[in-house]
Amino acid sequence: MIQITNLVKNYGSKFAVDDISFRVGKGEIVGFLGPNGAGKSTTMNILTGYLSSTSGEARVGGIDILENPYEAKKLIGFLPEQPPVYPDMTVDEYLNFVYEIKQCKLNREKHLLEIRTVTKIDDVRHRLIKNLSKGYRQRVGIAQALVGNPPVIIFDEPTVGLDPKQIIEIRNLIRNLGQNHTVILSTHILSEVQAVCDRIVIINEGKIIADEKTENITRVVEENRKYNVKVCGPQREVQAAINGIPGVVSVDATGERDGDSYTFQIEAEKGNDLRKALFYAMSERNWPIIGLEAVGMNLEEVFIKIMDADLTRRR
Ligand code: ADP
Ligand code: MG
Repeated sequence: MIQITNLVKNYGSKFAVDDISFRVGKGEIVGFLGPNGAGKSTTMNILTGYLSSTSGEARVGGIDILENPYEAKKLIGFLPEQPPVYPDMTVDEYLNFVYEIKQCKLNREKHLLEIRTVTKIDDVRHRLIKNLSKGYRQRVGIAQALVGNPPVIIFDEPTVGLDPKQIIEIRNLIRNLGQNHTVILSTHILSEVQAVCDRIVIINEGKIIADEKTENITRVVEENRKYNVKVCGPQREVQAAINGIPGVVSVDATGERDGDSYTFQIEAEKGNDLRKALFYAMSERNWPIIGLEAVGMNLEEVFIKIMDADLTRRR
């Protein structure tokens, strides 16, 4: 459904997108993951015809976006990083306006009601967009992308600035859309693509460094076994005791102290879950564990892991 081939975009000597290629099949939900400045928005803006490329090709439904932008754009619903909403219109006025612009042929009342319902904005349809909360405004942005029921949905950082409850709602909405649309969404949050996407394309400094099924990326990430544990006991002795547990690679005192407890960061051998052994080692000495949590990797660490695991054939 989407084919990007050797796409390049440079600004002077700076390559925002540096020769990337990937495909998205019909009905897939693909996550485009990368840190800020990686080239996600540039790629999406090119793919949706908002920006021209320096070289390479982007096709949607087989149609080249540069050669035939009008036809290609009809297939796409796009939520840009800055949603193109008009603050002085009401939600209803705005969606009708988008309906006109897109020259939508679907039954207007029925179609717009359906969109307001799935995006949960029906209750604010008569409000001015400028008076809406960030979460509602984002949903109005998603609603405009759905007008005309395009087969391809492209969302650039759809959950930025939303609170946790709104994030869950938007993720569920995207997952539902994925049932009968082809979806690409960009994000800099690993857990977001893990929660929603079938496949993850990772971009860093304008280059694709991995293109894999989500489960493969998740497997690599979960091999990481780092924990923060908070123990009430004498710092040095506790550290030495943890160090003596089979499977511990390293243990560092984080310097955090809370009453008579200290926090340590433990790294375990790959595939070795040593939480039970840790419990017994501490209880044997009457040192209560009052906190234990897995420490997630940041995106940089994830990238390094993935590069090490050599998951991708594209590099
Ligand atoms: P992302 O969306 O992944 O955060 P972008 O695609 O927005 O990244 O940007 C990729 C790189 O291109 C960044 O380093 C950014 O500074 C640069 N860039 C984007 N737009 C321009 C522009 N109009 N002029 C110069 N550099 C730009
Ligand atoms: Mg961006």
